[in-house]
Amino acid sequence: MLIEKNERIKNKGRETRNKRKTQTAKSFEIKLDKSKISKEKMGNLQRLFLEGKWFTNYMISKGITDLVPYKDYKIDKVNVKVKDKFEERELRLLSSQMKQYIIKRLQNNVKALHELGKKGKKVGKIKYIKSLHSIFLMQYGNTYTLDMKKRTLHIQGLGDFKVIGLEQIPDNCDITTANLIERNGDYFLHVTVYVPKEEKVHNRKAIGIDLGVKDQITFSNGIKVKYNVEMPKRVKKLYKVFSRSQYNNETKERSKRGQKVLAKIKKEFARENNQKRDINNKIAHYVAAKYEFVAYQNDPINEWQRLFGRRIYQTSIGGFRDTLKRKVSTPLEVGRFAKTTGICMYCGYSLHLNLSERMFKCPSCGHVQERDVSAAKAVEGLSLWNVGETLVDDDASTSNKLEYLKSIPHVKASIADEARSPKQADGAQEAPSVRVG
Ligand SMILES: [Zn+2]
Repeated sequence: MLIEKNERIKNKGRETRNKRKTQTAKSFEIKLDKSKISKEKMGNLQRLFLEGKWFTNYMISKGITDLVPYKDYKIDKVNVKVKDKFEERELRLLSSQMKQYIIKRLQNNVKALHELGKKGKKVGKIKYIKSLHSIFLMQYGNTYTLDMKKRTLHIQGLGDFKVIGLEQIPDNCDITTANLIERNGDYFLHVTVYVPKEEKVHNRKAIGIDLGVKDQITFSNGIKVKYNVEMPKRVKKLYKVFSRSQYNNETKERSKRGQKVLAKIKKEFARENNQKRDINNKIAHYVAAKYEFVAYQNDPINEWQRLFGRRIYQTSIGGFRDTLKRKVSTPLEVGRFAKTTGICMYCGYSLHLNLSERMFKCPSCGHVQERDVSAAKAVEGLSLWNVGETLVDDDASTSNKLEYLKSIPHVKASIADEARSPKQADGAQEAPSVRVG
């Protein structure tokens, strides 16, 4: 019987590993809706993390390397140091699996420290922790379960919690492990799921992208995108309050009020970063789904950040470029020093454009185009030429694209001033001679 069971587990493991080869892991953040958590359940959540801390510190005190995860988790009482005395505390919420994982994690930390030590790095011992911020939920369907219809999360031993953000999780996925996270008094679930690998597009469509400071993204089909997630004014005020709060030199701690304000500031930053990441993902995903070849220049965004500071920080176009590189079928990178601004796409004439000059007017053939669109076209042209492809125009989907981009919160999308072809521009100049003729 036992042999049979082992064989079954082995086969199941092999099956899973083979399946994972055709899948990619994705991670989603889901928030527990605090407004719908009863006082009792809230107390339990807090208690769970507290028990996790007690258990962690107790295990550290016993000497981690000698612990056996599958044996030593079996305790339900620990000694906790309160001021100078030890008091006994009961572990009533921390499940066996949670405890086993805490031991494993501690042992991994010890191993990592040991490895560092071997490399000659100076390493200390594992220290007692002041607080625990994450609890690993090892097994979906056992340690925790999600109910998509009721929008609830069930945690073993703690009950059901209403959650926000379940709609991010795709239908056709395998839900695996999760981390229950406490962050500045809020609770989140980081779920790992496996989805089928995305089919890369093969439509030979191409688009060029110009990244900039004034307009963050300009596409070679003329669409411009601006986005700006601004730090609310109250954050500035919070900073002031924080800097004035008491700092105790002995305990190396801020006053209660100071700590509270700091938690609020961190929360604001986290929210802002999430919004930016979300925008970047949405735009990059859309581009990757529509175009096989996506060309962009390897601009020195870090340098821009130094020069333009806050404006770049608020948009994180570097993050957009990285996401794009990861997602598109064939990313085409144009070198940082290649000239793409001030080049005529019709006759190849090149001139120097100051940052204040928003239009490119070709002195040679008369072609007129908005500066960034012209640069995006040059980026597209240059890289397609490098891979031996020809330009594919994409007028039909331009309006769809515009509508989609407009639907993303905080994003402003528009079509840049229309280009005038060399012929039209020439026509204007030649008007008098036509009359004469
Ligand atoms: Zn020209």
